[in-house]
Order: sequence, then structure tokens, then C-alpha cells
Amino acid sequence: MRSNLAARNATKSFSDFNGTSVELAAIWSMDNPKFAAAFPGIKGCRYDSFSMQVGVPAGVILADRNALPVTRKVNYKKFGSKHVCDARCMGATGRTMNCECSCGGVNHGRGFLAEEI
Ligand SMILES: [Zn+2]
Repeated sequence: MRSNLAARNATKSFSDFNGTSVELAAIWSMDNPKFAAAFPGIKGCRYDSFSMQVGVPAGVILADRNALPVTRKVNYKKFGSKHVCDARCMGATGRTMNCECSCGGVNHGRGFLAEEI
């Protein structure tokens, strides 16, 4: 059955780890000590006071050994303008960012992550 109440916005979770940015399809929690050991120095998104959010891209088995740290959340406007990404997109800051451009949030905030010229 299809719902007419389909959300107009979707919150996407991304992981920026080891030089790549991927959208995560499934999210779960990992205890803080375990997270710190698995991803040293990574400031991820909290799940609650005791755990952090981790996830896997679509098609990857949900298991801690495959987990990537959730480092960014982007509120994506499903019916937004889908304009081409610009500096505002790349330079977006904050743990939760709003996006309505064609990248779907992938590029948001990447300007601060990649120092490539
Ligand atoms: Zn963008």
C-alpha cells in the first residue's frame, strides 16, 4: 500500500572516512568505546549518550565489521530545485545541513573535508 503522506524531506546520512564519502542506507548504534577504537579521531554523530551512529551503504551487510561512522546528516528536499552544486553546497557547515541541489547531499560540506586543489 502506498502512503499519500510521503515525506517531502529526507534525512540522509553520510560517512566521510578514509577519503571517501558515501551515503549510508542503514544506521545503527555502536558503543562509544568501540566506536573510538574502530574510528580513532573521527567525530561522528551521536546515537545517544552512550553510543555513536554507524551505518553501511546500500547492499552491504549490516554488521559491525562493515560499519562506517556517520559523520554528516543532510536534510534533503525531495522536490527542491535540484540546482547544480556551488560553493554554498561545498562549504556547508554543521552536523545537519539542508540541501536541495542535484548532488543529493553528497557534496555538502566536502569543501572542509577535501583540501584538494
Ligand atoms: Zn550539493
